[in-house]
Amino acid sequence: MESSVAVPNRSCGTCRECCVALEISEIKKPVGVYCDLLCAEGCSIYQTRPDECRKFDCLWLEGQIPRWMKPNITHVVPWRNGVKGPDGQTVPILRMSFNHHFRHDKRVMRWIKKASHKLMVVLSDRSGSSCMIDGKIAAAKGHDDDIKDMKLTVKSGRIVGVETA
Ligand code: SF4
Ligand code: SF4
Repeated sequence: MESSVAVPNRSCGTCRECCVALEISEIKKPVGVYCDLLCAEGCSIYQTRPDECRKFDCLWLEGQIPRWMKPNITHVVPWRNGVKGPDGQTVPILRMSFNHHFRHDKRVMRWIKKASHKLMVVLSDRSGSSCMIDGKIAAAKGHDDDIKDMKLTVKSGRIVGVETA
């Protein structure tokens, strides 16, 4: 997806993983599948690519996750997001969007479990999304990436419970 370089010594390079893992609503690209507009050289419509692509920086590029977790190695794209809590406040969550063509790596899953003790993690791929809190799957959705209609319990600015509506 090629984005601005956020920290020294980190750049997208040959990584194209967000062009696979993410949902891009503007071009109706689903989660976890290769974008039809991706070619060997990168994005075939680079100059006119959607804003969602243009503005996206993953957390690896921002230097907020370990170097070994570069998305083109792990096949999961980490990004920051927020959801509306019961009082209308925005609660931060961690998103991990997987390339559906690869199995989830055990080392990555250990890292995600640990992270879920600080923030709710939403794991998404082509088959659906799951929410992880404190190392356990708390709720799962069937087939898309939409978690907006989930019922959240928030304490001290952190999601501690989630139920499907
Ligand atoms: S997943 Fe991250 S490192 Fe890879 S191309 Fe996208 S923004 Fe760059
Ligand atoms: S439009 Fe271009 S930048 Fe956006 S997902 Fe497709 S290939 Fe990647």
